[in-house]
Amino acid sequence: MKEIKHDHEAFTILKDKIQLIKQRNKATYLVGPIQLPVNLYGETTVFQWYCWLSQDEVTEDYSHIIEKLASSNLAEYQQSSVLVYGDFANAEEALIRMHSICHTGDIFGSKRCDCGFQLKESMKRIKDNGAGALFYLANHEGRGIGLFSKAMAYLLQESGYDTVEANEQLGFENDTRNYEDAIDVLKQLRSKAVTLITNNPKKMEALEKAGLPISGRTPLWGDVSEYNKKYLQTKVSKSGHMEAEGTCLND
Ligand SMILES: [Zn+2]
Repeated sequence: MKEIKHDHEAFTILKDKIQLIKQRNKATYLVGPIQLPVNLYGETTVFQWYCWLSQDEVTEDYSHIIEKLASSNLAEYQQSSVLVYGDFANAEEALIRMHSICHTGDIFGSKRCDCGFQLKESMKRIKDNGAGALFYLANHEGRGIGLFSKAMAYLLQESGYDTVEANEQLGFENDTRNYEDAIDVLKQLRSKAVTLITNNPKKMEALEKAGLPISGRTPLWGDVSEYNKKYLQTKVSKSGHMEAEGTCLND
């Protein structure tokens, strides 16, 4: 590895903003908070942004982690992050959202699912609540099958397969998403109970199993259109999502 020159000051700035979370014989390096002003429905809202990286190497010598960055090719992999709002550690009531990445919905604004709507709406609810956190889970594309496989699944769906059947045709079990790292980060940032924004009871179960105190669940329905009606119905009928009054929506 080539010798990387960094001055002592830069290292001092960074090392104070890194937290080491040791779990299951590996390390999660959490970096932040970073001020992130966000355009939320036309208004500037300032979130505290944290990003994390899980590694097999467990070290409190962060200079070693920093030195490895330039040769780690991280852009080829996915890193998750979290937007924190308000006094998340201490607030009595905190809302959280575990949001699975959706390249088509979140970035392109695709109407085939309701992810983009859920993302923005969760951020707004967290802000309106005064405290909370939105976890953006970057390894959850297509419920954990990846973007390329999701493109294939969409092709099958265009020929009449539903979301679950399409994933099965491609050799995937329905919903293989893992929340362990996000839960570790959540526990690092807050120990009090949280209210989960979700229509998905599996997220509730995953968080409860990991020993998180949950004070409640708040559903998130909306943005039904002719393009995502079938997808949303499948979530309710096959993936155990709870149905809202009058509509048929999910996450
Ligand atoms: Zn989506």
